[in-house]
Amino acid sequence: MTNGTSRTPGTPLPPGSTIGILGGGQLGQMAALAAAALGYRCHVFSPDADAPAKEVSAAQTTAPYEDRDAARAFADAVDVVTFEFENVPDETLAVIAEAVPVRPSVDALHISQDRVIEKTFLADNGIGTAPWAPVATATDLDAAAAIGFPAILKTARFGYDGKGQVRVNAAGDLAAAWTEIGKAPAVLEGFVDFEREISVIVARSPGGATRSYVPVDNVHRDHILFTTTAPSTIAADIAGKAQGIADRIAGALDLIGLLAVEMFITRDGDILVNEIAPRPHNSGHWTMDACAVSQFEQFIRAVAGLPLGDPARHSDAVMINLIGDEADQWLDLMKEDGACLHLYGKAESRPGRKMGHVNRLSPLLSP
Ligand code: AMP
Repeated sequence: MTNGTSRTPGTPLPPGSTIGILGGGQLGQMAALAAAALGYRCHVFSPDADAPAKEVSAAQTTAPYEDRDAARAFADAVDVVTFEFENVPDETLAVIAEAVPVRPSVDALHISQDRVIEKTFLADNGIGTAPWAPVATATDLDAAAAIGFPAILKTARFGYDGKGQVRVNAAGDLAAAWTEIGKAPAVLEGFVDFEREISVIVARSPGGATRSYVPVDNVHRDHILFTTTAPSTIAADIAGKAQGIADRIAGALDLIGLLAVEMFITRDGDILVNEIAPRPHNSGHWTMDACAVSQFEQFIRAVAGLPLGDPARHSDAVMINLIGDEADQWLDLMKEDGACLHLYGKAESRPGRKMGHVNRLSPLLSP
């Protein structure tokens, strides 16, 4: 094992090195598979012994994210650390960052961990979002109501796939909504009557080079991503602006790694950023089968300081998530020409749980 701290930033990590991944879900699983194809070993840290990423990695640590001794031993065993899960405690990250490079940086992670910090960062960088107001305590509710209704109250932290979110139709419902989300620190966000939702995934290397995939159209069902269509059918000038926004955010974060930027397109063609995630993203799964270099390989390339790959697609694609018992169709999906099935090997299927996805490919309509 080489000592990660002694590596020069920007020097490519040689094949045979070990990449530490915090988090053991399907994003970590697909990243570990891509890393293995480039000759790396992955060491996965997560509290869950049955985590999907542990099935496909060279080494595993099963410990709570709060376990600093386990975190230190993990850091000493790897050459670089990245994450597929954002809610790792600060104290653990500090222990790891002392021993080994963390990519993206802990600062970039902090910004995306908390909606108040994230939206403040976006505003400071001149990036448009829905109107919003922080709700730290009950005394903030009246002032927050000034953004208008309908609105959505979202917990500032630990929300995903629509969890920790309540729609609020009138000022009189706000206090009850805040109780419903557990009186946790939150943001009240104006409800956007969007024309569509898109996302852009951009990679940024240690030297600051960026490459992004085409914007894609995303459709959510019950707050969970249902389909991604690549490319988005949006006008070319809006697509270009969206890629420019993703690039600017990656630069402002001084990101090393991959960034997903989810955006609303309003009926006037304005772009409002909804959320950023400094890691591979569900809306990039189509790249696994429609591009020479998938988002997972691109992520590993960026984290390892390798040249970024070509994000061009050779096929158009529609990605469909298989949620809960939808994955039971696996045999039929396998019989379909042009359908590429990915199952995550999760032992237990639950309603709302992402079990796999299928990429349906079709010939490129335009380059
Ligand atoms: P989020 O967890 O913030 O990504 O929200 C999940 C989904 O809820 C989004 O992808 C949208 O479909 C919907 N949503 C979230 N915020 C808003 C908003 N301010 N206006 C309209 N829809 C929203």
